[in-house]
Amino acid sequence: MGHDDVISNAEIALPAFVPEQIALYQTDHLLTHPICPFDPAVARRRLATRRDVLAIDLGGDKLRSAVYAIGGGTLEKRDEQVLRARGGAGYLACLERLARKADTRDLRVGISSATKMAGPVITRTVNLPLFLVEFRARYGADYTRLFGNAFVANDTVMGICGASVRLALRGIDARHVAFVISASGVGASVIADGMAIHVEAAHVPVVPALNPLGQTTPCGVEGRDYVCIEGVAAARRGIEDLYRQRTGEAKDGIALAALYEAGDQLVTALYETSARALAHAIAGVLTRYAFPDSPASVVVLHGGNFEIPRYRAQVQHDLAALPHGHARVVFSRDLSPNVCLDGAAVMAVYGER
Ligand SMILES: [Zn+2]
Repeated sequence: MGHDDVISNAEIALPAFVPEQIALYQTDHLLTHPICPFDPAVARRRLATRRDVLAIDLGGDKLRSAVYAIGGGTLEKRDEQVLRARGGAGYLACLERLARKADTRDLRVGISSATKMAGPVITRTVNLPLFLVEFRARYGADYTRLFGNAFVANDTVMGICGASVRLALRGIDARHVAFVISASGVGASVIADGMAIHVEAAHVPVVPALNPLGQTTPCGVEGRDYVCIEGVAAARRGIEDLYRQRTGEAKDGIALAALYEAGDQLVTALYETSARALAHAIAGVLTRYAFPDSPASVVVLHGGNFEIPRYRAQVQHDLAALPHGHARVVFSRDLSPNVCLDGAAVMAVYGER
């Protein structure tokens, strides 16, 4: 059964190019945080010496860890372990075990944390409330109090570091790279002028032309009272929320993706709106950092929405109509099973001399 009755054609007539949306990315609405120096060529040199490192990726619904064998200019993942949990239940006990393993085997540690960070300290989380309460009580939410020698950054930063090294290993020049996550939330990072920079691409206001279904749920992050890009683009706060508003039914991303692939009209409109808004966010970020409009700029697309073939094609189509439409588009799934975990392994040794 479709939803052809609950959406009009006028609502799904999305404009291809909305300059005002891209202009909003050139304002103070776009929060940017330089995190650390990063150069993919330097990272590759750090992969020359043979040693093992411990990489950890804390995601919203699973915690992955693996030992990587580094050496000979490359890295190889070994004995990966996955803990699935809701709210981060059991994460701390798992991290304590990993800390003992790193200590016993004298492993350097890299941690990708899908949370808002201030250095090695978690300051905000949406998906991991149970973990944060425990972690704050025992370690002040500071990873370095548990792992003395760890390098920690959020997943957008670890993802771009991992993806850039994978690109470099394939001979692709990765000086101008943007990494964009479209999953339960939206996030981004860039490498620009030798720095890895976290770019809060989600929390910029969305213009009415790219909000045809009339999302009114405000951003809410740090007091922002406008509707942000995430409210139309993200899976949970955008697509799933708008679907519930329209139909009164709660469906998860897996069910909605199946309806999208089957051609349901309402769900197609939701994903097409998401793709169009995300393309504008990407073009806004590339414009902000004055990346070249050529394949010398690489956009790495990451996250659950890109597991949907129709969505991958739509975002590529939409980007091609925008400024920076000549950038090279790569999907992280084609580079590696987990670029965030790869990035954690690389950053475990990046700071060495
Ligand atoms: Zn927001």
